[in-house]
Amino acid sequence: MLKQACLWTLCVAFLSAHCPAQQSSPAVPLTLIRAGKFIDVEAGRTLTNQLILVRGTRIEAVGAQLTIPEGAAVVDLSNMTVLPGLVDCHTHLADLADAEPLDVLKRTAAEAAYAAIPNARVTLLAGFTTVRDVGVYRAFNDVAMRDAIAKGIIIGPRMYVAGAYITISEGAGAMTGLAPDIQLPWDLQYGVANSPWEVRQKIRELAHRGADHIKVLSTGAVLTHGSNPKSIEFTPEELRAAVDEAGNFGLRVAAHAHAAEGIKNAIRAGVASVEHATLIDDEGIALAKQHGTYLDMDIYDEECIQSAPDTPADFLQHDRDLGEAQRRNFTKAVRAGVKMTFGTDAGVCPHGINARQFAFMVKYGMTPMQAIQSATVNAADLIGHPELFGSITAGKSADIIAVKGDPLADIRVLEHVAFVMKEGTIYKHEQ
Ligand SMILES: [Zn+2]
Repeated sequence: MLKQACLWTLCVAFLSAHCPAQQSSPAVPLTLIRAGKFIDVEAGRTLTNQLILVRGTRIEAVGAQLTIPEGAAVVDLSNMTVLPGLVDCHTHLADLADAEPLDVLKRTAAEAAYAAIPNARVTLLAGFTTVRDVGVYRAFNDVAMRDAIAKGIIIGPRMYVAGAYITISEGAGAMTGLAPDIQLPWDLQYGVANSPWEVRQKIRELAHRGADHIKVLSTGAVLTHGSNPKSIEFTPEELRAAVDEAGNFGLRVAAHAHAAEGIKNAIRAGVASVEHATLIDDEGIALAKQHGTYLDMDIYDEECIQSAPDTPADFLQHDRDLGEAQRRNFTKAVRAGVKMTFGTDAGVCPHGINARQFAFMVKYGMTPMQAIQSATVNAADLIGHPELFGSITAGKSADIIAVKGDPLADIRVLEHVAFVMKEGTIYKHEQ
């Protein structure tokens, strides 16, 4: 219903090719977008006065001189900068943004699922047409959300999901802080594993039950009771088992890691990305470069952790000094030429303000183009679907956004996205 209501509004607004009742012919809607400025993220350059032809859900052609087919609806973005739909490689859309994780116990799984619906909506409307969601407390709520979006039941970005956190007992991805005689329901302790074989078992189950990638917790965490972000959790043997078993199902592994040794353990084990990478040292940076490991560093969310009035005191203690260290190490990694993606840990900050991280990425060493590439081509490469999204190229999904102004001159214009198209459907168009 949401999608239908949205589409009806858009039909009225644009009389577009998305409205079959108002079209005499084509069965597959055709849309021509006029882009005043066009960011070619693959070549790292800006073009002007480009035309983008969208047929159905796909981009059919891009260029300065295209023949406009009869019946094509024209979307005029000639006063805007057009770029590919953004990708956040570290979100938690299916969880609620609770300062206190134990609040999850106050809701049923169904209540959490319904309450999380706006998270997906605001993320899409902020210009993020794809996310890599990296863990949920209620196991498989993320799988259900991904599928609900794909079926058009709710609106949101294309989601790639983890299904659950794979974590040691009482570890960074576990529901901790309860009295020892409290028994958690199955879905709040699903990913607990304590040996290479238990890790393999969990991955086998997750692969069968719909996970797109595997999330492991290599070190302690900031936002977990009783956890120490500077401690090692999974051993090298367990991490190698995770990468090996995930590989058997064609899945990649994302490793949460703050401590330097835990980061290096994960890289050596062959993970696709290290999340946070907070205390990465020079050896870790060299290893990431050597292995081609992506660093997915959430350098904005410190602002939210420190400013939220209800952040638990032990979390603030964990967080002390880590934010600044992470930003310094981000600068080092960028200078060293490590592969970087855009990941915000959305859910720590409220959903929908993901783009605020861009300004921090530029402040701490990226060019605006590098920051945009981290959220487009690099993200698509990490997720493993560069053929589907990450650039505005013929054959790819029509995931296209536009902003008023030039993000290469002022990256913060990405915080106000005026136009959002995902898979050929327009979800937002502010004139
Ligand atoms: Zn996270």
